[in-house]
Amino acid sequence: MAGLEELKARVAEEVEAQRGRLHQISRVLYENPELGSEEFRSAELLTGELEKDGFQVDRGLLGMPTAFCATFRGRGEGPRIAVIAEYDALPGVGHGCGHNLISAAAVGAGVAASRVICDLYGEVLVVGTPAEEGRGPSGGSKVIMADGEFWDDVDAAVMLHPGTGYSVGNGSLGIWNVKMEFQGQTSHAAASPQKGVNALNAATLAFMATHMLRQEARRDANLVIHGIITEGGLASNIIPDRAVCDFGVRSTDEVYLEEMVEKVARCAEGAALAMGAKVKVTKRKGYSGKKVNEPLIEALWENYASLGVEMKHWRESVSGMPMASTDFGDVSQRIPAASSNIKITEYGTPGHSKQMAEATMTPEGQEAMIVGAKALAMTLVELLADPERLRSVKEYFDDH
Ligand SMILES: [Zn+2]
Ligand SMILES: [Zn+2]
Repeated sequence: MAGLEELKARVAEEVEAQRGRLHQISRVLYENPELGSEEFRSAELLTGELEKDGFQVDRGLLGMPTAFCATFRGRGEGPRIAVIAEYDALPGVGHGCGHNLISAAAVGAGVAASRVICDLYGEVLVVGTPAEEGRGPSGGSKVIMADGEFWDDVDAAVMLHPGTGYSVGNGSLGIWNVKMEFQGQTSHAAASPQKGVNALNAATLAFMATHMLRQEARRDANLVIHGIITEGGLASNIIPDRAVCDFGVRSTDEVYLEEMVEKVARCAEGAALAMGAKVKVTKRKGYSGKKVNEPLIEALWENYASLGVEMKHWRESVSGMPMASTDFGDVSQRIPAASSNIKITEYGTPGHSKQMAEATMTPEGQEAMIVGAKALAMTLVELLADPERLRSVKEYFDDH
């Protein structure tokens, strides 16, 4: 059997050989963006490409028609290692989050690994996870897959995401949504205000109370509270009997986050009591924060570094301040998982923008996709071919 370094060199060559094909996949997705839960043509394109290469494809997972799992088996029983694809776009800005590159790179990495797996034990999976942006019934599909125990018989997973810099090991915030529906009593705002119960005032007071919670926020837990009022009355001469607020509460500490969600809910209850209104509070868990897996992050980082990518050390990324939330967090809570960012454009370019979508098709964006696909492919074969590495990854997961 070939040595690990030779296998890595071979998969990097395999990705290189697919440059034109991956460019084409990313272009077709770019030109035909589909919103979350409606990525039918995108999923069909990706699964069709994987089938051409001999992958066995399961279309539709856990009631999500645009999810898929493509499997390629090696010479016998062994670990199941996954690369994750996302392919949902955004309203108005198309692939402004660059998911066209995520899926093309995942196909590239999966196919490259499949071409050397005949020497190895185990399976390589390309897993299609729709609606990462949270839209529609498959919204946050990785959470649905976590709840449905899909990840439990996968040994490890990797992926990449386009952005304005290379990095491996960035964290993410866990998020809960808190919806507050205040119920009061309408009345003439001038002639008979004493007969009214102002639901909007209760909502406003709830906003004040959540603002005040921030004073006590644990500084090491990256607490973020953000909210809007989605309903607040129909006319200024009617005291509003209904007001609705939507809050997002985020933190890197899952236990602390639940504690703060309770406190935000208490703000709603206190405000309603003060104003004589009623309130219904609905708390819904969104995405989990990422669980760090140092040995896997290190492996992925080293593979990027060996391709000549200059980036800050993974330890710096792990200890940096997480900026957003992703359903990949829920994968990492279930199994060893690591993600990477690739640089497709200059620092300062906004995410979720037309500029970011355009950057996916520039030579720089395309080159970053190829580099990322190589690093992912190298990590896939490393986990398949090096039992020591996989064991340390799994032990770290179990111990943390
Ligand atoms: Zn996004
Ligand atoms: Zn994204």
